[in-house]
Amino acid sequence: MDVTVGRVLFSEEEIRNKAKEVAEQINEDYKGESLYLVGTLRGALVWMADIMKNITLDTEIDFIVASSYQGTDSTGVVTVKKDIEGDVTGKNVLIIEDIVDTGFTLSKLLEYFRGRGAKSVEICSMLSKPSRRKVDIDPKYNGFVIDDMFVIGYGLDYEQKFRNLPFVGIAELK
Ligand code: 5GP
Repeated sequence: MDVTVGRVLFSEEEIRNKAKEVAEQINEDYKGESLYLVGTLRGALVWMADIMKNITLDTEIDFIVASSYQGTDSTGVVTVKKDIEGDVTGKNVLIIEDIVDTGFTLSKLLEYFRGRGAKSVEICSMLSKPSRRKVDIDPKYNGFVIDDMFVIGYGLDYEQKFRNLPFVGIAELK
């Protein structure tokens, strides 16, 4: 199957403006606190850069690699392939994600960080597809809500390609 870039859904400018807006809300909500940003590699890289440039709080950054697949039953299996390097005990963890689809990955990551003694754990996602949700996960901070479609660019891939596109576009199957 071949994939090409279809329509542009969100331009670089729109995403950057949204990231600024979301980061301002984060600054407000965590006033007087510090933040521990955990980016999910590789997809959240570009959105995370946009968010963190606009954060004015004391901030540390770290990364995690989680992979998910859906088995034959209705539960997704999520494994941590690369762990964070720091200690999140007593810290305000903000997971930076590219897109929330079924929600399996994030439900697992929330559990993971809560179990490690974080003071708080919240989610900041660039995109969310609520119509696809299989577990009850709602990111506290979210850039854009989209319909059930497969998108690429701005960190998001199709078979590891297209992550470098400076916009989010709809993947077109050929
Ligand atoms: P979830 O566990 O919420 O089902 O899956 C989240 C992960 O699935 C995302 O981090 C992303 O890697 C992948 N994913 C879900 N929807 C899309 C999409 O429309 N485009 C791309 N490129 N990846 C997606």
